[in-house]
Amino acid sequence: MKSFEYRKVSTLEEAFRLFQEYGEGAKVLAGGTDLFIQMRNRTLQPKILVDLKGIPGMDQVSYDQASGLRIGTLTTIHRLETSPLLQEKFGVIAQAASSLGSYQIRWRATIGGNLCNASPAADMIPGLISLGAKVRIAGAGGERSMAVEDFFAGPGRSNLQPGEILAEVQIPGVAT
Ligand SMILES: Cc1cc2nc3c(=O)[nH]c(=O)nc-3n(C[C@H](O)[C@H](O)[C@H](O)COP(=O)(O)OP(=O)(O)OC[C@H]3O[C@@H](n4cnc5c(N)ncnc54)[C@H](O)[C@@H]3O)c2cc1C
Repeated sequence: MKSFEYRKVSTLEEAFRLFQEYGEGAKVLAGGTDLFIQMRNRTLQPKILVDLKGIPGMDQVSYDQASGLRIGTLTTIHRLETSPLLQEKFGVIAQAASSLGSYQIRWRATIGGNLCNASPAADMIPGLISLGAKVRIAGAGGERSMAVEDFFAGPGRSNLQPGEILAEVQIPGVAT
């Protein structure tokens, strides 16, 4: 693996400044379970990894019927698998999470990484599409959102533009 810089940021703005400075040489680091394999294989050789895990709130899950379910993209697969709220109201997400990889992978891997890696075999994607989920994307110039099914441009490719961060997954509320 080639050497690289590492920076843990505590705000999105800090991340955007690093994207501006390093251009395509900067890569987001979430759990690293896809990223480090690509770096070890040298299919990806970033100059700097921008670790988002220090940004408050990006690993939070919240729900109310009016605004629906909000999942910060740094939320781990383990948290989704074991959340009583998801098990009760959004079983398809908890079930998909419980079938992803091994226990060790589920502790590290995030829902955002699963989406951004854009594998056709990604376990979290079908359930999100079936629930009508949207993604909120943040960039230096503002925010945008789109349906999960529109987020993918092909195998291994998403519609995230350079310098953008996948911030949140949003799912409509369910009738009780
Ligand atoms: C042994 C093993 C078994 C696995 N088994 C499965 C499986 O059964 N099912 C499955 O679906 N997957 C599996 N995976 C793949 C992987 O664990 C998942 O895709 C995981 O959810 C990736 O999340 P991560 O946080 O580790 O992403 P990372 O590796 O940190 O990031 C993945 C990519 O997304 C980008 N990225 C991450 N978060 C963001 C964000 N918020 N905004 C912008 N870009 C971002 C990164 O720059 C990188 O390009 C496995 C991997 C391993 C190593």
